[in-house]
Amino acid sequence: MPVLPTTHRTPNHRESESRQDAECGFIKRKMLEHAVLQSKLLPEPFIKIDLFNKNVKYDCDRFRSIFKAMQQHPKFERTLVIIKPDGIQRTLIGEIIGRYERIGLKLIAMKMFVPTAEMIEKHYTLDPEWRRVTGEKTIKGYHDKGLVPPETDPLEVTRKLLKKLSDYMTSGPVIAMIWQGSHAVKIVRKITGGTEPLTSDVGTIRGDYVLDSYEASDNDGRSIRNLIHASGSVKEAEDEIAHWFGKDEIMNYKLVSDAILYDAKLDSKLQ
Ligand code: GDP
Ligand code: MG
Repeated sequence: MPVLPTTHRTPNHRESESRQDAECGFIKRKMLEHAVLQSKLLPEPFIKIDLFNKNVKYDCDRFRSIFKAMQQHPKFERTLVIIKPDGIQRTLIGEIIGRYERIGLKLIAMKMFVPTAEMIEKHYTLDPEWRRVTGEKTIKGYHDKGLVPPETDPLEVTRKLLKKLSDYMTSGPVIAMIWQGSHAVKIVRKITGGTEPLTSDVGTIRGDYVLDSYEASDNDGRSIRNLIHASGSVKEAEDEIAHWFGKDEIMNYKLVSDAILYDAKLDSKLQ
């Protein structure tokens, strides 16, 4: 868009231009913060931008798209993990954390607390479809095994399930954590294993450390004990992280091991 000479600018023009300048300045500052913190890890084209030259007028849209690309790199993906009360009681905290650590994920937030029933109900119903989807999935699970489900209404199935889940999750301390790294959501789900320990793959945490089943837990009238909660999708992770953590509880820091995982500039420079 051609820039009008100053003398022909109306107050409105000046106002919208200064708003744009302020917005552009904000994005530029954010990019700088990001670049300073992650400079060694940024891909080449991003490093070449002369962010420090105050005299160069930058295209604000270009800034915005580059900043978005910087933030969207898969290495910044985050996921929420909760070690449930049975994980704490089984003294498996170190083992569970070690599994996520050794694959190269970075722990960026962690706290221990006893959750309230309200927080647990909100956690499971952040997605308004969760009640229906989980109810239908549970009913299908009974049919697939040739069993008669205790209820035919999916919402009623979930209401009972949620009550048991809440009793279980509020029974003692849990540890909530945020893990960051490439494809964090899928990687954590893969390491954690399927929801029902009876059928979770060997080598996964649930497959290796717990032997519960829907059949056993239904017989006992309790929730299935599967040690861990892990976000099921990137959207779920974003909602759950905002539900359990404040922004000031999340650490932004570099690990020396980040370089060997992500830095293309290290290639052919190790000796
Ligand atoms: P997750 O993401 O692997 O924890 O599984 P979901 O999000 O689908 O379900 C949340 C929780 O609900 C699980 O951890 C189980 O405790 C419970 N749950 C889910 N599906 C079933 C089911 O078919 N039967 C029973 N008894 N519990 C279930
Ligand atoms: Mg889930």
